[in-house]
Amino acid sequence: MAVRTIHHRIGGGETAGVSTRTAPVWDPATGERQADVLLAEVADVDAAVQAARSALPGWSETSVTRRSRLMFAFRDLVEKHLDDLARIVSSEHGKVFEDAKAEVIRGMEMIDFACGIPQLLKGEYSDQVSAGIDLFSFRQPLGVVAGITPFNFPAMVPMWMHPIAIATGNTFVLKPSERDPSVCNLVAELYAEAGLPDGVFNLVHGDKVAVDAILDHRDIAAVSFVGSTPIARYVHERATAVGKRVQALGGAKNHGVVLPDADLDRAAEHLIAAAFGSAGQRCMAISVAVAVGDAAGPLVECLREKARAIKVGPGTEAGSEMGPVVAPEALERIRSYIGSGVEAGAELVVDGRELDVRGGGFFIGPTLFDRVTPEMDVYRDEIFGPVLVVVRVGSLQEAIDLINDNDWANGTAIFTSSGRAARHFQRRVQVGMIGVNVPIPVPMAFYSFGGWKQSLFGAHHIHGPEGIAFYTRAKVVTTRWPDEVDGSRDRGHLHFPTAV
Ligand code: NAD
Repeated sequence: MAVRTIHHRIGGGETAGVSTRTAPVWDPATGERQADVLLAEVADVDAAVQAARSALPGWSETSVTRRSRLMFAFRDLVEKHLDDLARIVSSEHGKVFEDAKAEVIRGMEMIDFACGIPQLLKGEYSDQVSAGIDLFSFRQPLGVVAGITPFNFPAMVPMWMHPIAIATGNTFVLKPSERDPSVCNLVAELYAEAGLPDGVFNLVHGDKVAVDAILDHRDIAAVSFVGSTPIARYVHERATAVGKRVQALGGAKNHGVVLPDADLDRAAEHLIAAAFGSAGQRCMAISVAVAVGDAAGPLVECLREKARAIKVGPGTEAGSEMGPVVAPEALERIRSYIGSGVEAGAELVVDGRELDVRGGGFFIGPTLFDRVTPEMDVYRDEIFGPVLVVVRVGSLQEAIDLINDNDWANGTAIFTSSGRAARHFQRRVQVGMIGVNVPIPVPMAFYSFGGWKQSLFGAHHIHGPEGIAFYTRAKVVTTRWPDEVDGSRDRGHLHFPTAV
């Protein structure tokens, strides 16, 4: 049976461009191919960039008030279509519907933030910095900017980028993940319905060919990337080499530290949610539980019980708490890591490979390892699936040292009833986002999101105030109107000017 083809959207209309290659889009709950997505060639990327270039003069000169109004209109449409957007995410990614809905809501908060663009773009003004001289600053858009995004938040992560890029006056080219691309087509339609001029938001689907074409394109001023660490590093190196501004967010291995003074049942409940929500396919998932001292025994017991109780099933089915993983290769990778953990001598407390879900979907159950040590693959690598490993340490300091020795540094959390321990942890740990009794400390839209070390390449975190800074450049203007001041104070001198 013929399946649907997912097209690009360039300059306001859906198009196949010159693409002939395609990739399968699965229904992870059944294992069936539900669509084919077109994979862009260099010429398709160029067409999107040219559409964005043509739209740039008009859009960047559109008043900030009108740009804000457009964001309000877009926001209303996203809210109206919340369920439609979430249904598409759930059907292509596999995550449960309520989780998909939460993702879209968190994305919508980015649009809420972008609606405030008149306030966010206010510059600074200093009167009379020298006799008759005033100084002011303002920010201008960069031009055509691009976003390259991962599969795990197909609606929200692009929304970390495009509302802010567009509200600040840029035009945008998005290359979403080829694994779950359709939701971005609906987003493009909603922008058009909101009244966004053609060419301001363009969508090209694709793989490495499209990514490389974006990185090398001379008319793209900046690239925002979110994905795995090796690709983030590559994107950063290749695009900065040709003078682009780049923010490239990478992978993660997030530790949740549990002190003996924590409410262990509550800590276990949060660790389980953070480890197994979205089948562990979140960059802020907790994949390592660090049990300190006497916490270990009872914590592992609570985790075992709660991991076993999780209801795994199709994301669209009411009652499912955890869906399948995104693709057959992901399933294979996760199964092989579980095998590697067993071989390395870790204690397999709950084995997700034993899960029996009817049908041919990409299901694997929650998996729990105890007595994992830092040299094991299951500790060192980002598995990106429903696998939680427990590392036992003797003290808070050992937990902090373990985290600081790890190359990834996206998020971390501590569970404790001691304010003193929490404060020590939050000040000493070398990680970008920290939760205190909060397992997934994803900042709200009006703060910025970003990890440290191998979890982010580039100087800017994403969205929030750093998003505004990333998508704009500052100008500082020094003015004098000579007629207004006493002429003797307005003479030119060969020495470097100082204030008078
Ligand atoms: P990925 O790196 O495989 O893909 C991300 C993007 O890069 C996709 O658009 C893909 O088409 C493209 N890409 C893939 N291989 C490429 C190559 N060889 N050359 C050029 N482009 C390539 O990541 P993924 O599997 O889609 O997403 C999961 C990863 O993203 C995890 O590592 C996760 O931790 C990370 N992630 C990080 C954050 C964060 O904020 N730090 C957020 C979400 C996801």
